[in-house]
Amino acid sequence: METITQKYADLTNYINSKPIKSHGQRRLEVLSPLDGSLLCHVPMSTRADLDQAVAAAQKAQPAWAAMPIKERVQVFFRYRHLLEKNIDELTALIQEENGKTWTEARAEVEKSIELTEFACSLPQLVQGELLEVSKGVECRVERYPVGIVACVVPFNFPCMVPNWTIPNAIALGNAMIMKPSELVPLSTMRLAELLKEAGLPDGIFNVVHGDREIVEALCDHPDIDAVSFVGSTAVAKQVFIRSSSHLKRCVALGGAKNHLIVLPDANPNMTASNVAASMSGCAGQRCMAASAMVAVGSVQHIIDLLCEEARQIVPGKNLGAVISRQAKERIERYITEAEQQGAKILVDGRNAIVPGKEGGFYVGPTVIDFVQPTMSVAREEIFGPVISIMRSNTLDEALAIENGNEYGNAASVFTQSGGAARYVMDKASAGMIGVNIGVPVPREPFSFGGWNESKFGVGDITGKSSIEFWTKLKKTTTKWDAAARTNWMS
Ligand code: NAD
Repeated sequence: METITQKYADLTNYINSKPIKSHGQRRLEVLSPLDGSLLCHVPMSTRADLDQAVAAAQKAQPAWAAMPIKERVQVFFRYRHLLEKNIDELTALIQEENGKTWTEARAEVEKSIELTEFACSLPQLVQGELLEVSKGVECRVERYPVGIVACVVPFNFPCMVPNWTIPNAIALGNAMIMKPSELVPLSTMRLAELLKEAGLPDGIFNVVHGDREIVEALCDHPDIDAVSFVGSTAVAKQVFIRSSSHLKRCVALGGAKNHLIVLPDANPNMTASNVAASMSGCAGQRCMAASAMVAVGSVQHIIDLLCEEARQIVPGKNLGAVISRQAKERIERYITEAEQQGAKILVDGRNAIVPGKEGGFYVGPTVIDFVQPTMSVAREEIFGPVISIMRSNTLDEALAIENGNEYGNAASVFTQSGGAARYVMDKASAGMIGVNIGVPVPREPFSFGGWNESKFGVGDITGKSSIEFWTKLKKTTTKWDAAARTNWMS
């Protein structure tokens, strides 16, 4: 009988800074998308596992919350240093479990460092307020942590998306239960070790693996105070509704269909290279990826350059793998469907094979022209290195196409005209806008979050906006001057 070897030991949960075996009977294989090899198995945890993690968090959180924030952020200064020190090892792990290129995987760690630096600056941003509201009477406002928070994350950024929430939520005094994607659970386990090494007290960061069952359990759990979710729109909606029905605060980020509007006066080379990088980076598995291009008027020369750029992007070389065989099949189905509906495939990434890695899951860059806004490739999130080009005669027509899509994560315009750019900045229906930028991710201290079907809940998940989500305000009114004559207010 053939023995299948696996690279890593099977995973456990991580509770109170210790590996704890799950009570779950089910487990899934974790495969490397690079070559299809078996990395390990991940347990599908149950409510009993979650209860253990919540109990550990509840025990640890009061002492952590009582510590001044200037002391709490010291852990994150050290964590930042550890991310930097271990960047090569983390990059290799991200690449192995997610399938992206070395450069893309490394960028995730670099972004995680930036996220942590922002958390280290939180003492400068959360110092509260004080005002003498009547003679001798003062009102002060202070921030308190929410308590026990749970974070559910997707497969496409195994290191960066967990770090969207870990440094801010924990530095603000919360204890956390992290639920990694079952497809890429390894990076989070390494982050847990680094947090411990940085001096984070036991029980403040816990990891519970699993799928739908455990996510539903954490939405329902009476002792979890807040839930953040990042993933597809269908699940984001379910998580938002379920957590809210249990009176928890919730922010749930969903999928995307980002439109790039290209005007005839756009710089041709810059536009073509930005569009190509945006549609193919991380194999198109980014919620900020360009997925639709609206070509306004005479921009054939830019489309030709885009195709030239796309042909230089080679699977296994400067293009990573997609996450699974099912993802590859889904993406290729979308391309075939568009072709059958009359669209023209200018660059075809179907049936990509990387020599020596025949077991891997690869799709080449794909450019589809003459797509109609009603086709599935124009409306739905494909989540692969595919761009659908729609033609329009005017900027208003292009904006109507962008506005007509149900998502609203990002939108970009390529032009040399300040007036046209300003018009798109105002009229595009998306939370993050780019001008001559293919992937308009706001950098810290600005926050990340879309509109429409791309985000549910108030506020964003990172940056300054996230402070509201991870804290609650206490308003105190004091009077110490017994002689003070106060007015009707106190
Ligand atoms: P997904 O929705 O399948 O899974 C996300 C998380 O939810 C995982 O941890 C998974 O275990 C869990 N889950 C899956 N099905 C569930 C269910 N029925 N009930 C409860 N939990 C469930 O998403 P994915 O495939 O891991 O990630 C890709 C998606 O994430 C894309 O749609 C992408 O656009 C989106 N995404 C959005 C952002 C953003 O900022 N808006 C960022 C990254 C990824």
